[in-house]
Amino acid sequence: MLTKFTRFLLPAALCGMSFLSVAAPDIDAMADEIESDVIAWRHHFHEFPELSNREVNTAHYIAQYLNSLGLEVTTGIARTGVVGILDSGKPGPVVALRADMDGLPVLEQNDLPYRSTQTGEYNGQTVPVMHACGHDTHMAMLMGAAKILTELKGELRGKVKFIFQPAEEGAPAGETGGAEIMVKEGVLKNPDVDVIFGLHISANTDVGTIRYNSGGTMAAVDPFKIVIKGKQAHGAYPWKSVDPVVTAAQMIMSIQTIVSRELRLIDDAAVVSIGSIHGGNRSNIIPNEVELVGTIRTLNSDARDHIYEALPRKVQGIADSMGAQAELTLPLDYYYPITYNDPALTEAMLPTMQRTAGVENTRLSKPVTGAEDFSFFQEQIPGLYVWVGGKPLDVSEEDSPAHHTPEFFVDDSGMKLGVRLLTNFTLDYMAAN
Ligand SMILES: [Zn+2]
Ligand SMILES: [Zn+2]
Repeated sequence: MLTKFTRFLLPAALCGMSFLSVAAPDIDAMADEIESDVIAWRHHFHEFPELSNREVNTAHYIAQYLNSLGLEVTTGIARTGVVGILDSGKPGPVVALRADMDGLPVLEQNDLPYRSTQTGEYNGQTVPVMHACGHDTHMAMLMGAAKILTELKGELRGKVKFIFQPAEEGAPAGETGGAEIMVKEGVLKNPDVDVIFGLHISANTDVGTIRYNSGGTMAAVDPFKIVIKGKQAHGAYPWKSVDPVVTAAQMIMSIQTIVSRELRLIDDAAVVSIGSIHGGNRSNIIPNEVELVGTIRTLNSDARDHIYEALPRKVQGIADSMGAQAELTLPLDYYYPITYNDPALTEAMLPTMQRTAGVENTRLSKPVTGAEDFSFFQEQIPGLYVWVGGKPLDVSEEDSPAHHTPEFFVDDSGMKLGVRLLTNFTLDYMAAN
């Protein structure tokens, strides 16, 4: 590692600083040195993707690597999760860095030499599997940061927890998984984590660019179900019915006014969508029952609280007015909290992002109404979640394939920024806390 230390010391010597003053480690040079390793790891993960809660070989590969760095490694957290702890031996904060591990049931369509030809079992069916969201890059970047931080162990204070998380895309039917279960199994305890950082590669953001947001960054998800019970009758004699179909129609329209007429839309966006309506089976029978299923997306807790109050009010009010019964289940079977970037932490880390990517390449971006289970960590402790560009510069944003599609593509050259960012987040947080 002679080259590394030469690089550390040279700038200090050139600046005429005392030899005893601590030269900042040259993270850029260290990331350059391991870039080919990071790319090789990514290609391996990409070629052999595994579905949510089935990341067995992926976990083995990661655990072996973290062991080779001499970290304290725990496997089997939330089924296939892996955690490595780097202990500097000095008092200081505990910083967690998180990468997700799962691929998707998507058939990869490209000519890459490391293209996936893997299949897996998903909800009882054999399906193709592809890293169509870029989680392969997340694991490779975090392994790169683990390597650099291990080399810098002597300069750290406190501990670093490297969290490799399964099932970000959602567990298969009948299973639980992901960040929520890792938290329940104590991943943020022993040692207690002070702060967590995570990133997502972005297929439609230029390589070299960081996008971030303060506060509500990705939405909370609250699925719900409404069962409307009326009174069945012949379609020719509606006066003999209590019609759950007409009741459902009124309810759907009324629910739309929660967002359009009750929320402060100047604060944040919010969504209430009905995704499924089921009821009846013939043209000439008014059914007894109609079932609606929908999703709520919110970016601040006031909006979420408001919808939690308004939805039962609308459902009950419309049902009463029609003489029907209604049962609301909210949340239905799961929920995701808001991916909330702690504003003080975001502000404190902005100079780190700007130094790492350049001020002009660090872009404040709008929140999105998609969701991310990183939010379960942020529900417990302050955290920061940002996007790192993976789009080649010669491809336009419109032409870049979307995440979760067969054509999804991110460029290897985008990962170096992620490795440097995770490393710099850790070093700067430790230095300031
Ligand atoms: Zn995804
Ligand atoms: Zn993803």
